[in-house]
Amino acid sequence: MPNRDAPDPDGPNRKAPNLKAVVREIADEMRQRTDRGEVASYIPELARVDAGAFGMAVIDANGNIATGGDSDVPFSIQSISKVFTLTLALGKVGDRLWRRVGREPSGSPFNSIVQLERECGIPRNPFINAGAIAVTDLILSGHQPREALGEILRFMQFLADDASITIDNAVAASEQRTGFRNSALANYMKSFGVLDNPVDYTLGVYFHHCAIAMTCRQLATAGRFLAHLGRNPDTGMSVVPPERARRINAIMLTCGHYDGSGEFAYRVGLPGKSGVGGGILAVAPGKASIAVWSPGLDAAGNSHLGRVALEALTKRMGWSIFGQ
Ligand code: GLU
Repeated sequence: MPNRDAPDPDGPNRKAPNLKAVVREIADEMRQRTDRGEVASYIPELARVDAGAFGMAVIDANGNIATGGDSDVPFSIQSISKVFTLTLALGKVGDRLWRRVGREPSGSPFNSIVQLERECGIPRNPFINAGAIAVTDLILSGHQPREALGEILRFMQFLADDASITIDNAVAASEQRTGFRNSALANYMKSFGVLDNPVDYTLGVYFHHCAIAMTCRQLATAGRFLAHLGRNPDTGMSVVPPERARRINAIMLTCGHYDGSGEFAYRVGLPGKSGVGGGILAVAPGKASIAVWSPGLDAAGNSHLGRVALEALTKRMGWSIFGQ
């Protein structure tokens, strides 16, 4: 006969889980997993990364930070930079940006060219490579590549409150030597008049912002404005208006994981953006900014254990935007 007076551990009055303990637990579990995915090798410099690495950092609304594993090891943020270039470009040109780039999920791989022909060179969304290259082109307009890149890097340093963040030039050079697909995408868009600047300039800035190296701790700090209506809750400093933060989150949810975006929403239930360096930035609105890193990727080019860890986190903390 069950004791009716005993509290139900999963009932409405259950104690809030301890974030630090949960993150530590997940990092330990991930260390033991043998299914790690495949490290990206199409950018040769990325293939040198240790496939066994795993890091996680979570910053809650009060600024408490919980970390696990290699949370202070810098990694190549790659496509996660696209969240921040989108934020910058929207600040510069506002909704005019949507004349150059759509905001629908592509259902195609990150470097696909097929939709571009049918859709007159307008990329489906700002997070597939073609879309991010078009966004970079908007930031570049009116500047020299070096200035545009400096602006992007300073924005990251400001958001992460860390002036030590740099670009890994070996990764940028490696991609510049081998980025034939991205060159094809950029040239194709240029032929439709979607890019304003010389293709080499735009690609140079794109490859370099993808090669920014950051730790999970820095990335989670940089993403805080997205979790808190566009402002950093510690400093009170506004980065974007609340409506813009909401919209960036919506695009992260629908397009942040390429043709794995549906699966990510289904399993994790948070806006997120992945990069082929194995990082994922995820946002629990009103609750936390989260960065995770594990270099092995799944077939869609998203961090395998990164996704598994985020699924465990949202489940244990009850953070999915779709409910418990
Ligand atoms: N720099 C990478 C590329 O353009 C970014 C891709 C990614 O991180 O998903 O291929």
